[in-house]
Amino acid sequence: MVIIDGIEGDALVNPSDEELASYKAKAEEFAAQKAEWKLLKDAKSVTADGKEVILGANIGTPEDVEGANDNGAEAVGLFRSEFLYMNSAELPTEEEQFQAYKKAVEGMNGKQVVVRTMDIGGDKNLPYLPLPEEENPFLGYRAIRISLDRQDIFRTQLRALLRASNYGRLAIMFPMIATVSEFKQAKAIFEEEKAKLVAEGVAVSDDIEVGMMMEIPAAAMIADKLAKYADFFSIGTNDLIGYSMAADRGNERVSYLYQPYNPSILRIIKRVIDASHAEGKWTGMCGEMAGDQTAVPLLAGMGLDEFSMSATSILKTRSLMKKLDTTKMKELADKALDSETSEEVEALVAEYTK
Ligand code: PEP
Ligand code: MG
Repeated sequence: MVIIDGIEGDALVNPSDEELASYKAKAEEFAAQKAEWKLLKDAKSVTADGKEVILGANIGTPEDVEGANDNGAEAVGLFRSEFLYMNSAELPTEEEQFQAYKKAVEGMNGKQVVVRTMDIGGDKNLPYLPLPEEENPFLGYRAIRISLDRQDIFRTQLRALLRASNYGRLAIMFPMIATVSEFKQAKAIFEEEKAKLVAEGVAVSDDIEVGMMMEIPAAAMIADKLAKYADFFSIGTNDLIGYSMAADRGNERVSYLYQPYNPSILRIIKRVIDASHAEGKWTGMCGEMAGDQTAVPLLAGMGLDEFSMSATSILKTRSLMKKLDTTKMKELADKALDSETSEEVEALVAEYTK
């Protein structure tokens, strides 16, 4: 007999009677908790003092939309489009991509779907698109850098996205933007493809938000400048933390540096949110941190507008949100930003949310 604890990520082989009894009780408790969360499926995500936020889902394929809806997603905050490329034996055609994006936006019934353009490179490679051997692939030829270089691939994707925009509420964001110039180039190519489609008589939404991922510290430092051009930011903490701490996200030996609650990371996040708000724009987060129950009170206190996470974390987070008061969370966030260590911040959150 094996017990699998999917919450803690543990497995117990041949459990004792006591272990079995304790896990049975735990499983029942969790089922009861889930039933309670389920009641919030169609509810809005509001804090105790009435501030609304958006809780979205991260998806990899259009089929994931079903799970997003079942879990009460108010949006898709991140559609990792590279899965369309990774699940294919060759570059997906414009038509194949169009069908996939159309299915996703239609499935979300008018709720926003943010599609991230291809984020290949780093740890995600395509067998049919050999990339040069690099010493540091995470600092190399990847994501928007490939798209701006291989415009044939990028333009095909943008055309598919533009065509799908007519079937729901689609938004686009570019991954791994480091400079204003990269964003402007990507946006200009988007505008060119849009103009071409319109000239061809293809129906395209004239209300597509075009934003960017915030994953590179250098971009966060000029968030005020980028906010003039991007319609929104989505903070990709998975990469942002790695690049900020100079610690590879997949390297166990330096995993102690992977500290979402470190004041350094919180300050970067705060800076990005404030910069977007100063330009009347919004900021979301689509890295793992957005669904982290210790981080959520801090992010709410810093004014994050949208939290996008794995679908199964949404209802739990909505339930937590209902208990949070934004004034108190702002006070908590201010203290956290002025702390010295990650541990100190964790202790603060524990104290505020107990
Ligand atoms: C991120 O970096 O936080 C992110 C959401 O992108 P990915 O995990 O796909 O790199
Ligand atoms: Mg990333």
